[in-house]
Amino acid sequence: MDAVGILSAMRAGERPDAGAMQWVAAALASGEMSDAQAGAFAMAVCRNGLGEPGRVALTMAMRDSGDWLDWSDLPGPVCDKHSTGGIGDCLSLVLAPALAAAGVFNPMISGRGLGHSGGTLDKLEAIPGVATEVGNDRLREIVRDCGCAIVSASGRIAPADRRLYAVRDVTGTVPSIDLIVASILSKKLAGGIGALVLDVKTGSGAFMENRDDARALARALVDTARGAGCKTQAFLTDMNQPLADAVGNAVEVAASMQVLTGRVGGRLYDLTLELGGACLALAGAAESPADGAARIAALLASGAAAERFSAMVRALGGPADVAESWRRDLPVAPVTLPVPAPRAGHVAAIDGVALGMAVVRLGGGRLRGSDVIDPAVGLGAMCRLGNRVAAGAPLAMVHAADPAAARLAAAAVLDAVHVADAAPAPDPLVSEVIS
Ligand code: URA
Repeated sequence: MDAVGILSAMRAGERPDAGAMQWVAAALASGEMSDAQAGAFAMAVCRNGLGEPGRVALTMAMRDSGDWLDWSDLPGPVCDKHSTGGIGDCLSLVLAPALAAAGVFNPMISGRGLGHSGGTLDKLEAIPGVATEVGNDRLREIVRDCGCAIVSASGRIAPADRRLYAVRDVTGTVPSIDLIVASILSKKLAGGIGALVLDVKTGSGAFMENRDDARALARALVDTARGAGCKTQAFLTDMNQPLADAVGNAVEVAASMQVLTGRVGGRLYDLTLELGGACLALAGAAESPADGAARIAALLASGAAAERFSAMVRALGGPADVAESWRRDLPVAPVTLPVPAPRAGHVAAIDGVALGMAVVRLGGGRLRGSDVIDPAVGLGAMCRLGNRVAAGAPLAMVHAADPAAARLAAAAVLDAVHVADAAPAPDPLVSEVIS
C-alpha cells in the first residue's frame, strides 16, 4: 500500500477499508505521508465521507498510532471532557481543576487553535512560562500530584492526530464528522480515561452550524466511544455567541480566572456546572448530575478549584500562584479599541466564525502552520445576544498589537454583530443530551 494508491482510489470515489486506514494512521505518525498527501486525504474525507466502518477504523487506527496511558494505579476515577470547538470556549481551564478538586483525575489531552476556533493549549500557554508539551512520565506525575493536567498529546499519544490536526487547521478541512470523531476520540481513547463528556457545539461559531449536523456528530462520537468501551455522554450546546465574554488567549484565561476565583456567574459558569456535574455522575463520583453540579459550585466558591489550577500551572512551568497573581502575569496588548454599535437596538445575531477569524487575523490564531501566536490579542467585553445597545455604545473591545490591526478587527466585529430592532428568542445553553 502507498499514499498515492489510497488517494487515487479515494479520488475515484472509493471508500478506503480498515487496512488503508491503518496504513494512513501509521504513515501520518511515522512521517511517511507528506503534509501534501495528508491535506489531500483530509480533503477527500471532507468531500466524500468515510462511512461508519471507515470512521471507526480511522479512529481506532489513529488511537493505536502511539502509546496508550494506563491510570489503574490512581486512587480515584479518571474522567475527561472535550469540546468540538467554538469561540470564547475556555471551559476546560475551569472544569479540569474543578474535577480534580472533586477527587476525579483529569488528564486532559487538548488541542491548539483549529480553523476559527480557539485552542485550550494556546490559551494556557498565554500564561508566562507555561509549556504544555510534556512527556508521558511528566504527565503522570502532574496528574498524580495536582489531579489534572491540560497538555498536548505528547509525540507518543495519538501522533497521527497531531499531524492531521495541524494539516486540517490550514487546509480548510475541519468540518467533517469523520475527521472530528477520529481526531477527538483517538487522543481521548489513547489517554486511557474511564468516562468522557463531550460538548458538541452548534450554531454560528461551531463547526456544525445546524443542530441536525451537530446531533449526527454527537451520535457518531457517543457510538464510537462506547463501542471502544468508554462511558460517554454528549451535550449539544449553544455556540451562536462566544461562551465567555472574551475571544482570544490571554483574555480567555482572564475570563476563566474570574469564574475560578471571583464567583462570577454567566454562561461559562453555568456550563461548567452542567458538564462538571455530568462528569462527576458518569465517573461515579456524584449521585446524580445535579448533585455533581452542586459540588462543582461549592468547589469554585471555596477556592479549591482555583488552588488546583495554580498547582497545575506551577507544575507546567508557570507562576507560583497564578490564582493570586494572574492580573499581573497575563500579557496585555498595547492597543485597545472599542467597537461602537452602528445604531440603537438589540444584538440580534453574531457570526461566530467571522469573530473567530477576526481574532486569528489579529494574531491570536494561525493562518499558516508556522505562524507564532500573539497571546495578548483578542476581543474583550463582548456584547451578548439580546443585549439592548445605544448607538455608539461598545459592542466589544479589540486588543491588538498595533492601531492598523485594531481598526481591521473592529471592522470585522462590526460586520459580524448584527444590531436590529427586535431581540432574538434566546437559544437554551444545552439543547439536548445524548447518551
Ligand atoms: N477538537 C479536536 O480535538 N479535533 C477536532 O477535529 C475538533 C475539535
